[in-house]
Amino acid sequence: MKRIYLDHNATTPVHPEVKAAMLPYYEDLFGNASSVHSYGREAREAIDVAREQVAELIGASSPTEIIFTSGGTESDNHAIKGTALSKADKKGNHIIISPIEHHAVENTCEYLEKRGFEVTHLQVDKYGIIDLQNLEDAIKDTTILISVMHANNEVGTIQPLAEVGKIAKERGILLHTDAVQSVGKIPLNVDELGVDLLSLSAHKIYGPKGIGALYIRKGTRIDSLLHGGHHERNRRAGTENVPGIVGLGKASEIAKKEMEANREHLWSLTEKLRAGIQEEIEFVRQNGHPEQRLPNTLNFSFEFVEGEALILSLDMQGICVSTGSACTSGSLEPSHVLAAIGLPPEIAHGSVRISLGRDNTEEEINYVLETLPSVVNRLRAMSPLYADRMKKRKEGKL
Ligand SMILES: *Cc1c(COP(=O)(O)O)cnc(C)c1O
Repeated sequence: MKRIYLDHNATTPVHPEVKAAMLPYYEDLFGNASSVHSYGREAREAIDVAREQVAELIGASSPTEIIFTSGGTESDNHAIKGTALSKADKKGNHIIISPIEHHAVENTCEYLEKRGFEVTHLQVDKYGIIDLQNLEDAIKDTTILISVMHANNEVGTIQPLAEVGKIAKERGILLHTDAVQSVGKIPLNVDELGVDLLSLSAHKIYGPKGIGALYIRKGTRIDSLLHGGHHERNRRAGTENVPGIVGLGKASEIAKKEMEANREHLWSLTEKLRAGIQEEIEFVRQNGHPEQRLPNTLNFSFEFVEGEALILSLDMQGICVSTGSACTSGSLEPSHVLAAIGLPPEIAHGSVRISLGRDNTEEEINYVLETLPSVVNRLRAMSPLYADRMKKRKEGKL
């Protein structure tokens, strides 16, 4: 059976050109970038090129503002713990985050809270957008960091980050953003957004897993997480993952080049899918902002359906989607993102994220639209709550 992959916010396939760019660094070009001989110099040059490619994608003014990490999780940890450790003695211990952050931010802040830091969670509206007045009101003299993700991985909502940037700058507070989902998908410029720290990850943009980057604005002093050799200008010790870095660089270059075409392609496919779902299936609601969203991401709650059951049933038809974030599935806790946008647990449990990628086609979307309604109906046929609702409707009570 042909499989249709619609879970690109969990991870993406490696672009063939990315793989091709990486291979030589597993073969002849295996040098350690710290070595002074020719093997080392080749590796160093490859890293320099990749650093420029990443800087270029996010509009950094200098490649020296980019450090390579093991991925989005490490970048988030580095940005937040690094700021906390460097500012706690001098300025304060208060951190502000949104309530819909990825666990890499959320749980890092929870850890810091146990160590005596104070963390304020902002409010979001029903679309998952933060309230700027609420942010202004949350700021204290002791606030050292604001961390608000650019686009949400579960519902796709894009935050008014440039406005947050203005507020942070006015108040002299560092701004970090987890941009793992927005980088490469929508135009993004660190100066326009006014961010000081930005996390990104290769495997969400058709690069390899286990490699990412943290943008650190020139002049921003934060502590390092990993101590050891003098790699990454003393900001991140450890022999560089040269093939991974080359892959991230290439993926960044391609993302920049293809962004407009991908955006249009994905927007039209998701709009077709959204319209089809809303036409064909009743008792369904779209989660996240209908327009201020990532071009590839849709999230729906299907009433009277268990999300996990829907995913398994769709998987048997060759359609791969997910409930919320890959990191929460497997747990019975409803997603904190869906809770924050006000979904009651029973509705949140029937939610599914559909995240498209550059290779998805209109035929695949047609197949999903042919398959999904009958799968949902079959599952609903097993729900006593649904039967009750149908009975009431028949009796004219609804
Ligand atoms: C995937 C993801 C991460 C984690 O990135 P890894 O490279 O998998 O560690 C962090 N934040 C968001 C929003 C993500 O989607």
